[in-house]
Amino acid sequence: MVRVRFAPSPTGKLHLGGLRTALYDYAYAKNQGGKFILRIEDTDQTRFVEGATENLINSLKMMGLDFDEGPTFQSQRLDIYKKYALQLIEQGDAYYCFCTQKELDLARQRQKELKLPTKYPETCRNLPQEEVEKNLAQGLPYVIRLAMPKDKDFVIFDKVRGKVKIDSSLLDDQVILKSDGFPTYHLAAVVDDHLMEISHVIRGEEWLYSTPKHIHLYDCLGWKPPIWVHLPLILNENKAKLSKRDGDFSVGAYLEKGYLPQAIINFVALLGWNPKNEQEIFDLQYLCDKFSFKAVNKAGAVFDERKLEWMNGQYIRKMDLQELADLLKKYFIEAEIDISDEQKYLKVIDVAKDYLVLLPQVVPHSKMFYQELEFTDEDLALLHAQESQAVFGYYLENLPNCEDYEQFVKTASAELGIKGKAYFFPLRLALFGNSSGPNIPILLDILGKEESKKRLEKVML
Ligand code: GLU
Repeated sequence: MVRVRFAPSPTGKLHLGGLRTALYDYAYAKNQGGKFILRIEDTDQTRFVEGATENLINSLKMMGLDFDEGPTFQSQRLDIYKKYALQLIEQGDAYYCFCTQKELDLARQRQKELKLPTKYPETCRNLPQEEVEKNLAQGLPYVIRLAMPKDKDFVIFDKVRGKVKIDSSLLDDQVILKSDGFPTYHLAAVVDDHLMEISHVIRGEEWLYSTPKHIHLYDCLGWKPPIWVHLPLILNENKAKLSKRDGDFSVGAYLEKGYLPQAIINFVALLGWNPKNEQEIFDLQYLCDKFSFKAVNKAGAVFDERKLEWMNGQYIRKMDLQELADLLKKYFIEAEIDISDEQKYLKVIDVAKDYLVLLPQVVPHSKMFYQELEFTDEDLALLHAQESQAVFGYYLENLPNCEDYEQFVKTASAELGIKGKAYFFPLRLALFGNSSGPNIPILLDILGKEESKKRLEKVML
């Protein structure tokens, strides 16, 4: 049975990188008829951010990624991790370390000066048993470290990267239990992945170099490791790892900017995976149907916000009109525009939607249907031109009797003998405030006869 977990640490809001991991977890679980599990890795008390857990859960829900199990909170399982840490000590695979922060800092500094890799110097690795017991009896603060083997070659079989060898001389004796009694990520993740029967560990590439430590923990505990899947980095436009310095990449920030959840999902799905066909616009179901690790790239995926904008526009135009109109209402309320004429409002949205990239842009693209127009001197020159005035005069006289705007606009042009730009530009300017934009019959239909007349009267000399 496929069981995958999304295991964020509540150190901040869910960002698009985290969302990608969750999305691939979800897609793989659904593709395989497996389970998608949420685990909150809240064992680092120093990095805990108030409200982060709620943000993570809400963001997943808003994106439609419902989990089948969880959330499980690691902070509620401290006894379990401690039990395994002690078992590892008992077996000789881990040891108590009593080094103070000062001693560690000094050792680090010395290594730096000698241009050596900075690693724990293994001071406590072979402490005599009596000394350990004496220190413990005295109540000295301690951590528990994993004794990494010296002669073991670590080979990771990764579903995306293939076979990866890691030089064991680079590996530190990792802390697995901290002095506050909390486990570190490494121990807690391995214990939970085992106890929760996780079949595939899917996570960012930045964890690849921790994997040997995890493999070693599995070996020491006599457990079978899961299948490893390390996802490619997400890069900024300069091909460097996308970071907080590049902006706020939280899911919340993108929703706030006016991106639709469906567009975000579609865009994020393509950061490292593609359906191996031309299709770029697809929904969550399609992703779940098609998803496989074979189609996940090794190379970093470049984050291109222009593409997300384009997608958002596509989704806006595909949306059901009533649904879109409802979604956009809040922007009009914020701008204090009265949209109580529901019929008119729907027509306005139907026209404005073609111009939108982000949802809040709806206001600048439709307020002209609700507010009095203002004209520049250049506008007035066009509006007051003789031909323009002739067109407006004709309209004011005949519009009240017209039934079919389409036909009326054509007939008027023929009868006046004015066509093309000379005909459409001043009309559009008078009715809409801009010489380019929607077709005249559409404008007349939205504004209605009364309002159209009012607008034309206003520009008559
Ligand atoms: N808690 C880790 C994180 O925040 C999870 C890494 C993993 O999935 O193993 O990224």
